[in-house]
Amino acid sequence: MAEQRHAKTRASLRSAIVSWLETHELEESTRENYVRCAEPIGKVTTHVLERLYAELRRCGSRCGGRPFVEHPVEGPHECREVRHKRPPGHPPAAGYPPHDCAEKGCVVVECQPHVCSPLAPASVRKIHFVIRGVMRAAQRWGWISSNPAELARIPRVPPPDPDPPTPAEAAALVAAAWEEDEDWGTLVWLAMVTGVRRAELLALRWSDIDPENGIVADRRNHVRVTGRNIEKDTKTHRARRVSVDEATLEILAEHRQRYEERCRAVAVRPARTSYVFSYSPTTTGRATRAA
Ligand SMILES: [Zn+2]
Ligand SMILES: [Zn+2]
Ligand SMILES: [Zn+2]
Repeated sequence: MAEQRHAKTRASLRSAIVSWLETHELEESTRENYVRCAEPIGKVTTHVLERLYAELRRCGSRCGGRPFVEHPVEGPHECREVRHKRPPGHPPAAGYPPHDCAEKGCVVVECQPHVCSPLAPASVRKIHFVIRGVMRAAQRWGWISSNPAELARIPRVPPPDPDPPTPAEAAALVAAAWEEDEDWGTLVWLAMVTGVRRAELLALRWSDIDPENGIVADRRNHVRVTGRNIEKDTKTHRARRVSVDEATLEILAEHRQRYEERCRAVAVRPARTSYVFSYSPTTTGRATRAA
């Protein structure tokens, strides 16, 4: 591999980070986080990065295992302060007669020894992605010839461990939801039988549903239900198909009926762009499109 040219100086990398942050319109709190995350970068090699990630996995404060006392305030202060319980209204300046602190229940505030707390794999990955982004910008600008972050190994995020309900529990959930509200029951039912995410179901519009042959044809990128299927255009643009049975189509038809009744009640026309799951009959949200 070509000789690794690092950032010319620590200072130039800092300004790279600053420029990068400026070109990325980040919200203020995120920016602060990013600045904090980005700070540990100095002379960066893949090895340095991997050591940093390993260190963070041991202790988020990167204490290096040396015991120390954590002082919550900077500068000179009393590390051990006794806050004597005083009779109400007793002015501190007037002094307080000697007493048994334990008996009176006086509070002792003390700076505590540091206890290591490891950074979660997801947090370390976040830091890595920030560093990688900065290094990519620095490389694009010709400040470094290669990006050491590209090769760095990052902690794996443990796979999610969902705890799906048993069929009996699922049935009880749907029944309870239905009892509360039929629309709510419909939503829970669809979530159960299709496995489609809540957010995707909420994005469903009436134009996505064709009651004739049960097609939900969605040209945006979430859910598409055909007579038997739900297709989902994922971020990778690979469609996902989930089968939908007759009962579900029936449930959707009843849901539509309730929607139309509600529209009549408030004298508005059903809108194709309205959300399928909404208490507002004609709320169409931001993204409307020609039906
Ligand atoms: Zn202290
Ligand atoms: Zn006391
Ligand atoms: Zn520590």
